[in-house]
Amino acid sequence: MQPLDTLNRPLHDLRISVTDRCNFRCTYCMPKEVFGRDYQFLPHEDLLSFEEIARAARLFVALGVSKVRLTGGEPLMRRELEILVEMLAEIPGVDDLAITTNGSFPLRRIQTLKEAGLKRMSVSLDALDDPTFKRMNDVDFPVQQVLDWVEASAEAGLSPVKINMVVKRGVNEHAILPMAHFFREKGHILRLIEYMDVGSSNGWRLDDVVSAREIRDRIHAELPIEPLEANYRGEVANRYRYVDGSGELGIIASVSQPFCGDCSRARISADGKLYTCLFAIAGTSLRDPMRSGASDEELIELLAAVWQKREDRYSELRSAQTRELPKVEMSYIGG
Ligand code: SAM
Ligand code: SF4
Ligand code: SF4
Repeated sequence: MQPLDTLNRPLHDLRISVTDRCNFRCTYCMPKEVFGRDYQFLPHEDLLSFEEIARAARLFVALGVSKVRLTGGEPLMRRELEILVEMLAEIPGVDDLAITTNGSFPLRRIQTLKEAGLKRMSVSLDALDDPTFKRMNDVDFPVQQVLDWVEASAEAGLSPVKINMVVKRGVNEHAILPMAHFFREKGHILRLIEYMDVGSSNGWRLDDVVSAREIRDRIHAELPIEPLEANYRGEVANRYRYVDGSGELGIIASVSQPFCGDCSRARISADGKLYTCLFAIAGTSLRDPMRSGASDEELIELLAAVWQKREDRYSELRSAQTRELPKVEMSYIGG
């Protein structure tokens, strides 16, 4: 069964948040003032177990999912993540298995992830200079260690490695061109992301967003680029190639040019709720029916019913009113 939602969108991608914890405190995601010492993260027993995650993934594959991404929070904070990667890699129909990480862990993990069956690595990095990057990660983490992680991932064949950079006005916009030059030379794909109003804790203001158009124009003025076709329906990044043939980059215009019309992504939060939009207010628990003995058929019916009812298009409707609504945090739902 391959259900379509109310806007005729199929279900292709699944993002699984494996933990709501993180060792960084990026100001746009988990600001220290909110995620401080007293912050109550989910207790371990509330998290889906690896068996439950793998079961959920199998059911989603039956509904059309072929791409699975592990995220969080910081996915590598979840102990023995490699075991989960191995379980997911074994599921027939999972053609693409990727992870999004801040790249702050010992490099040996890259090989174990690769051996477990991981296919691709996305690494978040917001600047090449330590003062800016440290200001954004807010835990004094240095750039070089993340760059080492990027290189080691490419060497391990987890490529193309994608680098996610959130651009925030007045904070790291000066890093756009240095990042473009650097990763073009290295042969990795830089993806510049408009700062989004996810969650309720980052104090988002429209004035802090550097629009995709401005990002594109700034790069184009120095390194001419031209648009490329999307790889597939629902791809979030607008793809560009350098006119001199030296590589490609992506710009994610989630705020200024929403792409809800093709959004084929479902998300599972760390405690096993299904969310059909990054900006959703509520999710549907899969964990509770799983733990009370629901059969695979019953769960598939539940998932299909949620998808068929889906009418989310938050970014297209984004307005002062919708911005006021309470939203779940990105670290919980999975970025
Ligand atoms: N901890 C991992 C990491 O940082 O790569 C995975 C989870 S993180 C929530 C996933 C992605 O969401 C990262 O690339 C991060 O930069 C991005 N992100 C977080 N908050 C954002 C925001 N307010 N606007 C745009 N992107 C954001
Ligand atoms: Fe952690 Fe990733 Fe959020 Fe930064 S963006 S606080 S690394 S979850
Ligand atoms: Fe998809 Fe929701 Fe983002 Fe629109 S706002 S692209 S529906 S996740």
